[in-house]
Amino acid sequence: MSQATSLRRQTRAPRGAKPRRPRPARLLHERNCSVARTVAILSDSWAFLVLRESYFAATRFETFQSALGIPRQTLTQRLRELTAQGLLRRVQYSERPKRSEYRLTAMGIDLYPVMLALLAFGDKWLCRSEKPPIYLVHNVCGAVCRPMAACSNCKEEVNARSVTYGDGPGAGVSPILDAKRNRRSSDPAVLDRGRPSSVAQTLKVIGDRWSFMVIREAFFGVRQFDELQSKLGIASNILTDRLNRLVAEGIFDRRKYQDLPERFEYRLTEKGRDLYGPLIAMLRWGDRWLSRDEPPLILTHRDCGADFEPTVVCDHCRKPLQASDMSYRLNYRPKNDGRPAKAGRPIAFEQA
Ligand SMILES: [Zn+2]
Ligand SMILES: [Zn+2]
Repeated sequence: MSQATSLRRQTRAPRGAKPRRPRPARLLHERNCSVARTVAILSDSWAFLVLRESYFAATRFETFQSALGIPRQTLTQRLRELTAQGLLRRVQYSERPKRSEYRLTAMGIDLYPVMLALLAFGDKWLCRSEKPPIYLVHNVCGAVCRPMAACSNCKEEVNARSVTYGDGPGAGVSPILDAKRNRRSSDPAVLDRGRPSSVAQTLKVIGDRWSFMVIREAFFGVRQFDELQSKLGIASNILTDRLNRLVAEGIFDRRKYQDLPERFEYRLTEKGRDLYGPLIAMLRWGDRWLSRDEPPLILTHRDCGADFEPTVVCDHCRKPLQASDMSYRLNYRPKNDGRPAKAGRPIAFEQA
């Protein structure tokens, strides 16, 4: 029996409970979106944490385990999934006893700029202390840098207002794949494991599938409750809950636009609009690796007029940020788990 089956079994109603009617074939469809596909991978709290430790040079089971205090079975399963998805690859490093380690693939390494964009948002908006948990050093220019989502053509920072959209070759709708996406850790507290992380803080805001979808629709200009509901096929109590939460998080402003009956709309705040960077970085990664290079959307940068690829660049030298060019300085004391703790050590590497 596969892991997935056993998990599903456990959540079934106990004996004696009213048997649930089998679900009808899935009819719900949603827009094709490379970001949703990327969020589905990242929003699994454990998968995200495993990836993050990979960027901090963890490769061996025991290292992941001691860094995260993750149950062994969960770790085995996530490593297997990340390998099946193509983000990690398994490499045998010892014959006797037989032992393997998990290294980032080109696809996994390419997700690094997405992590950086999430990190920049978390540092700016969600950091609880004065200093962010880590300083990133861009070895190419030597500066402590802030990752910035930019236009690949003119290298200027892009935002929701400076970009227009057109349908790309992969445009259209696909069936919503609930089952797959819901099988993630439901406990966002898990994200606090291991080390302080602005990326984890950001995922707490957008990592919930529905919260993310609501934010995405907001970037497409959808503001009203009814419209959100019909676009997303979301139950109204869930939508109410997510909107309230996002208002409390400062992502949306709630504004009354009609008195009788009372109606409200939800507009992104400055903080909410700043999520554009991470979303657009995910879009590019998802287009490249999950949409077989058939992007559902073509992006045009108003300021320079060019169609562009979102690129995460160094705010100092404007060169694209790559894992192999980065080092970091920790502003916290790392856990001793066998990895060298030297500051300035590069984060990720080894091209497949
Ligand atoms: Zn441009
Ligand atoms: Zn730089």
